[in-house]
Amino acid sequence: MKSKVTRVNEFRALIKPLSLGMQLGGIFLVEIAWFLAEDSYKYDNRQLIFLAALTIVSIFASWKIAFFSLFSIITVWLICIELSLLAEPSINRNYWTAVLSIGISLAVAPVFSRTSEYIIVSAGIWLIFGRGSLIATPFGGDTNWAWLSVSTVILVGIFLNALFARIHRQSILLRDKLVDLAFTDALTGIDNRRKFLSDVDEIQGARDMSSACLLMLDIDNFKRINDDFGHPLGDEVLQQVAQTIRRTVADEPCGRLGGEEFGIFLTQGGEERAAKVADQILAQIRKLNVIDRRITASVGISKMNEEQSFFELMKDADEALYLAKSRGKDCFAVF
Ligand code: GH3
Ligand code: MG
Ligand code: MG
Repeated sequence: MKSKVTRVNEFRALIKPLSLGMQLGGIFLVEIAWFLAEDSYKYDNRQLIFLAALTIVSIFASWKIAFFSLFSIITVWLICIELSLLAEPSINRNYWTAVLSIGISLAVAPVFSRTSEYIIVSAGIWLIFGRGSLIATPFGGDTNWAWLSVSTVILVGIFLNALFARIHRQSILLRDKLVDLAFTDALTGIDNRRKFLSDVDEIQGARDMSSACLLMLDIDNFKRINDDFGHPLGDEVLQQVAQTIRRTVADEPCGRLGGEEFGIFLTQGGEERAAKVADQILAQIRKLNVIDRRITASVGISKMNEEQSFFELMKDADEALYLAKSRGKDCFAVF
């Protein structure tokens, strides 16, 4: 199960493009307002400072996911401050800022990962445009209408925010589920070939592989097990063998490569450790009590060397496995 922090961060990563797009839209809006403004008040130093701050904050917002929400909140507020300053000289300022408050607080609703963040940003928008007061009436009076419209807009914003958060959450959960399905072997529940190979690939890039070994395990006479006991019991043998392997190599990559064949990648310990692990697994498999016959398996071991690809390592392990089979099965052989 993923922690809440992980989920919030994944959520932020998902909405980041949307949020950055919206911030760019906001900056564009500011530019237009700037362009339309009269010369008499457009070259105000405060505006230049806010514009510079806006650009810097937006750049930072796109940097680190952890601070992403904070910077997004600040960007929205800076855009509002800037627009509010530009609207200052208009005789209908209160009217235009009310329109902007509604538009901006609804537009930003989908991009905040937490409703609490949205409430903070939205309240800030109203306070900035309302010059410090949350409920401002454009032409005086009408306090009830002002209350009604402000609370309606904020409530609709919260609703939109919750709705989008839900959709995003579901898409993350769905994606996780699909990743699980794509990487898990349906029958045994352990990693499948794809996951095993990708894990090995990842480790290979990150660690010293000079004492790594690949173990290839194949159940002996499995076809006969199927023939004599039926496919369902054959499946159960596969499951038990998979669990035995998983238990024995708890933290290292292992997976079902296909059919009744499994791969185990030991990142350290060399051939000595690989032999020990193989012995251990084979002993555990002999003890399995699924059918009225002793289950055995054979293992081929190959040790990695400097300029060898994993594909070549697999070929060597396969050859060693063939050797183990030819030596009478229920044993391991080293390439
Ligand atoms: P050896 O000792 O030489 O390895 O012989 P073997 O019979 O184990 O090997 P062979 O490759 O001849 O047979 C493998 C069998 O595994 C054939 C196939 O029907 C069976 N098999 C493959 N996948 C599954 C599965 O998912 N479930 C079951 N029950 N059987 C499977
Ligand atoms: Mg086989
Ligand atoms: Mg076999």
